[in-house]
Amino acid sequence: MAHTTLMMIKPDAVENGHIGRILEKVTAAGFQIKGLKLTQLSKNDAERFYEVHQERPFFGELVAFMSRGPIVAAVLEKENAVSDFRTLIGATNPAEAAEGTIRKLYATSIGENAVHGSDSDENAEIEAAFHFAGRERF
Ligand code: GDP
Repeated sequence: MAHTTLMMIKPDAVENGHIGRILEKVTAAGFQIKGLKLTQLSKNDAERFYEVHQERPFFGELVAFMSRGPIVAAVLEKENAVSDFRTLIGATNPAEAAEGTIRKLYATSIGENAVHGSDSDENAEIEAAFHFAGRERF
């Protein structure tokens, strides 16, 4: 059965010109793109998206980073999408990410780590609905 995950290509990776290379790795790994847009989070959007982290010491930095420029949001589908995508992107800290993972290749720091991937099927649906209207998903 196909499952869904929500990817964001974060502002650092967009600024560094990695959109095409990241989408190529994602589709080569067997994910189907079911929604895709270039967009920008307002500060308030970023605060809402990362609400679960609001007590963390890096919350302000995270919100400022995620709202500073355009991102690419995508709904991806594949069997075991959430866990397979997290394997493809690698550890949160690129210094700890496995060779060949997207964060190892394109992230610059634990904060500016190139991509987001949902952490559960339930959050994938919440996050997909955050970014996409029904008619924007295929
Ligand atoms: P993820 O599921 O691998 O994205 O990691 P988390 O859910 O733990 O954290 C969410 C996001 O917060 C990460 O992807 C980073 O962009 C950011 N983040 C996590 N830890 C730190 C940190 O120690 N410092 C900063 N500045 N940002 C962090």
